[in-house]
Amino acid sequence: MARRLVTFGLHVHVGVDSGDKAVMICDRIMRHLPTLLALSVSSPFWEGRRTGLHSHRSKVMEGLPTAGLPTQMRNWSEYVWLVNHMIDTGFINTIREIWWDVRPHHQFGTVEVRICDMPANLHDTLAIASFIQCLVKALSDEIDQGTVEIGYVLLNTPNPQDIFVARLDPAPVFEHNNYVIGQAIPVTYVPARNTILLSYALGLAEVMGANAIVIAATAVDYSGYVDCRPEFYRAFQEVARLGTKRGVEGDVIEIRTPLIAMSKAEIVRKGEDLGVPWALTWSCYKGGERACGVCDSCQLRLKGFREAGARDPLPYARLPKAAKPG
Ligand SMILES: [Zn+2]
Repeated sequence: MARRLVTFGLHVHVGVDSGDKAVMICDRIMRHLPTLLALSVSSPFWEGRRTGLHSHRSKVMEGLPTAGLPTQMRNWSEYVWLVNHMIDTGFINTIREIWWDVRPHHQFGTVEVRICDMPANLHDTLAIASFIQCLVKALSDEIDQGTVEIGYVLLNTPNPQDIFVARLDPAPVFEHNNYVIGQAIPVTYVPARNTILLSYALGLAEVMGANAIVIAATAVDYSGYVDCRPEFYRAFQEVARLGTKRGVEGDVIEIRTPLIAMSKAEIVRKGEDLGVPWALTWSCYKGGERACGVCDSCQLRLKGFREAGARDPLPYARLPKAAKPG
C-alpha cells in the first residue's frame, strides 16, 4: 500500500471565518466532489502501465482507512469529538492521519479540498483552484444567509397511536359518524399527539441550531382536537422557553403556526395558488387505498374543498352527497 501511494494530488485550501463554518462547508461541498474529480482526472498510469482508469490515484487513496468522504458533521465540536475519539481509540495517532477528500484544516483555518488529481499544466491547476475558491465562497454566503440544506431527519419513534389508541376501543371511529364536528372531542383524537411530536421537534431544533419549529395546525374549523388550539401552542412556546438550555439562555426556539387562523377553505385556496399536488396528500385516519369519507378528518377536508370550489382528486370509499367534490 505504501509503495502504491506515490501519487500526485492537488490540495486546495480556502480560508473561512470559523471552525463551525469550515465543517459546514465540508458537509455542503461533498456533492460537488465528483465533478471536481472528473474535471481533474489525470492519473491513468501506474509504473508505466495503463490502468484503464482515468484516476488511478483516487482508487489508491480509497484503500486508506481514513480517506474518502468525511463523516457527516454539523459543527466544529462534532469534528473535534470525532478526531479525539479516533485518537483515544488508537485508530490514528495524530490528526495528520486523516486524509478525507475534504477536511477542515485546523492549523491554516481553511477548508482543504483534496479530491483532485494534479492537473498536467499550470493553467488547468489555476482554473480548478479558482473554481474551488468560488464554490467555497458561494457555500459560505449560503450559510451566512441562513439557507438550510434541504434534507430530513427520519426519527424511528414509536407511533403514539400504537401506544395509546390500541388501549381504547377503535371500533366507533369508522363505523358511524354519530357525532357533530366541533361539539365534542372526536374519537379520532390521539392522546397528546402534538405534544409528543413537538417534543421531538424541540429536541432536534435545539441540537440542529434551528430558529423555529413550524407546525400546520389549524383551529378555525375547530374539530375538537385540543392540541390544535392557539392556547396550546402559546403554552408550548413556554415549554420551549423554560424547558430547553437554549430557551433558558435567551435563545428561544419559536413555535410557529402559520395556518392556525386559516379555515380549511382558505388553506385549499392557498394550496391551489401554490400548485399543491393534492393527489399526494392524505387526511383520512383510516388506512387503505381509498379515504373513508366518513371520519371527521375526511369530512373537514371535503368541506374545505367544497367551500374553496376546488376538486379533491383523492378516491373516496363513501362520499356523502353534499360533499361530492367539484
Ligand atoms: Zn377518513
